[in-house]
Amino acid sequence: MSAVYNFCAGPAMLPAAVMKKAQAELLDWNGQGVSVMEVSHRGAPFIQLAKDSEADLRELMNIPDNYHVLFMHGGGRGQFSAVVNNFLGDNGKALYLVSGQWSKAATEEAKKLAGDDNIDVINVVEKVNGMNKVVIPALSGNGSEYRYLHYCPNETVDGIEIFDDIYSPWPIVADMSSNIMSREIDVSRFALIYAGAQKNIGPSGLSIVIVRKDMLELPQLTQSSIMDYRLTAENDSMYNTPPTFAWYLAAEVFKWLKSVGGVKGMAEVNAEKARRLYACIDSLDFYKNGVTPENRSQMNVTFQLADESLDKDFLKEAEALGLVALKGHRIVGGMRASIYNAMPLEGVDALVSFMQAFAAKHSS
Ligand code: PMP
Repeated sequence: MSAVYNFCAGPAMLPAAVMKKAQAELLDWNGQGVSVMEVSHRGAPFIQLAKDSEADLRELMNIPDNYHVLFMHGGGRGQFSAVVNNFLGDNGKALYLVSGQWSKAATEEAKKLAGDDNIDVINVVEKVNGMNKVVIPALSGNGSEYRYLHYCPNETVDGIEIFDDIYSPWPIVADMSSNIMSREIDVSRFALIYAGAQKNIGPSGLSIVIVRKDMLELPQLTQSSIMDYRLTAENDSMYNTPPTFAWYLAAEVFKWLKSVGGVKGMAEVNAEKARRLYACIDSLDFYKNGVTPENRSQMNVTFQLADESLDKDFLKEAEALGLVALKGHRIVGGMRASIYNAMPLEGVDALVSFMQAFAAKHSS
């Protein structure tokens, strides 16, 4: 089979080198004659894997010592509720910024668990010159109004990314499911960062939580033990059996990322991939993108064909060339090319060539 470039938004492509290594050691991990899927998470080899993976992630993201790194169950949505349950006991309030589908979904979950009265919401997307633009109002307070402010720096469905730092009197919680480790960030600006794994980390189901230790003092709501940050931290993410195979693959992805220049090196490639794709979209009237340049996602490039009746042909012809999973999310329609860390520059170049050829063929 010739090369396939998989533009799926998630579960997304994983680095080929990681997949090959996993394949090679699938039946015999660590010289034990059994798969990593078949060993105890409490045995010395897996404990070592867990420690090494945490150390690698701390190095990659430059995570300060006053943060716990947790490996949890339940993906991104699991954290929508975990954040609320862990921080909003005793009638605590939180502020949610809505910039697209995922922050909206997080807000709905928070309201369900904490009650409408305890969740305040600001819609931060405005239409400016017909384009979606994130406009965050000045946030003022004495720090006691809310336990945290929640936002989603990269909206996977809408293709909207917030690059600017947010200045908030309240601790900042960020859903980085679709842009974690895609560019350098200052972890110390956040009280908590979470990410479902299935884009830049590994297989779905696993989620990574980076939480400032003092946040664990906040009163909790009643909740299930396995989503309790304190219990998870006290038990080194092994209160119950963790998703061991997903954790193993995440550990391999971290090693791979370190070997290709870390987050800094990756950020340069990611910026170039996004630049080439948006340049193609902007250079042809055949395609459009409705996000203002300052908020165009570097991970999820959404675009529409000016003539929607060609959508089906576009997808079919792309797929015939091995360019798969370009259909946009059902809520927003159009196309979406997800170009996470594992997508090589060649994949983007192949897509750009196809888009140019398709436009030339169908423009009269
Ligand atoms: N947040 C964001 C930004 C996402 O992109 C997704 C999934 N695409 C989620 C949360 C939900 O993740 P999960 O399906 O793992 O619950």
